[in-house]
Amino acid sequence: MASTQRILVTGGAGFLGSHLCERLVDAGEDVICLDNFFTSQKSNVVHLLDRPNFELIRHDITAPIWLEVDQIYNLACPAAPGHYQFNPIKTVKTSVLGAINVLGMAKRCGAQVLQASTSEIYGDPEVHPQPETYRGNVNPVGPRACYDEGKRAAETLFMDYHRMNRVKIRIIRIFNTYGPRMHPFDGRVVSNFIRQALSGEPLTIFGDGSQTRSFCYRDDLVEGMVRMMNGPVDFIGPVNLGNPTEFTIRSLAEQVIERTGTKSEIIHESLPADDPVRRRPDITLAKEKLAWEPTVSLHAGLAETIRWFKGIKISEYRPPTPNY
Ligand code: NAD
Ligand code: UDP
Repeated sequence: MASTQRILVTGGAGFLGSHLCERLVDAGEDVICLDNFFTSQKSNVVHLLDRPNFELIRHDITAPIWLEVDQIYNLACPAAPGHYQFNPIKTVKTSVLGAINVLGMAKRCGAQVLQASTSEIYGDPEVHPQPETYRGNVNPVGPRACYDEGKRAAETLFMDYHRMNRVKIRIIRIFNTYGPRMHPFDGRVVSNFIRQALSGEPLTIFGDGSQTRSFCYRDDLVEGMVRMMNGPVDFIGPVNLGNPTEFTIRSLAEQVIERTGTKSEIIHESLPADDPVRRRPDITLAKEKLAWEPTVSLHAGLAETIRWFKGIKISEYRPPTPNY
């Protein structure tokens, strides 16, 4: 039997981080969850607090921290456009200083460190679907740049620590992922539409709804993350992780309306600046190297997510606290 790993998950109280922590704790690993709760709350991990192989640390990853671990999943970063644009300077600091701090820790401990990068590094893509070799079309001075360029700089740092210091790295590029424990006020399309549908408010389509996204259910994504961390020694990525089935935003709205049975109407609001027109991952590399591909359809994933949204007390969730 493989020995227990000491695993740090930064951003571990967030939507994806809390599911990853749960999975690792259930596997018997020794898990440290680090979070500053900027876009999350303790309730996401409260059920893990009495597990002997789980620890929770309130810490901001822009400041160094001294821990001894074998693996690090670096997820700390606001991910929804509304959250990362709330304090764009802090978003850049979180990506860049956060990467430097976890890479320094990995270098000191000889740990392996996985970076949660994003499809946003492709910007508004001119190549479709997007393979890892595509270098992207990012506006460096637009409102999404704090996230896109921060994540691009983090990838650069990961590669340079690897080339210069032989730090064991892994880079995944995550495409739109949804599921239970998304913050109901994060402004992302799946959480917005479900919250609006359940409360009888109009569903807000930005633009005409012809823009596309490809939605991956959180269980598939967490499986891909763990496979990448423990995958072939010489495969460091970057690798795309996402569901290649593409939908228009209008079609997503229609599916949420149908599945919730809401009487909500659809209204249109203006399209945010630099909103990507099309997005779909080419996952050939993940299939080949990790034998990974998504298994949960949007139909099934939406049903689980709607069920979770029906069970939460919306008054217990607040927009992010000022964090300057
Ligand atoms: P999330 O906002 O739920 O999780 C991010 C977590 O990081 C939160 O718990 C937040 O409080 C924490 N955090 C933010 N700044 C921090 C800081 N300075 N120090 C410590 N903790 C901090 O978002 P998520 O969807 O779970 O995303 C997790 C990671 O995956 C992020 O790095 C994100 O960029 C990446 N990602 C997610 C998606 C997606 O569709 N969910 C897509 C691409 C990339
Ligand atoms: N979107 C929308 N209505 C909403 C929220 C988002 O039409 O209430 C659109 C948004 O303009 C984008 C897509 O849905 O085209 C996905 O947005 P999200 O913020 O979820 O993620 P990202 O743009 O980062 O992929």
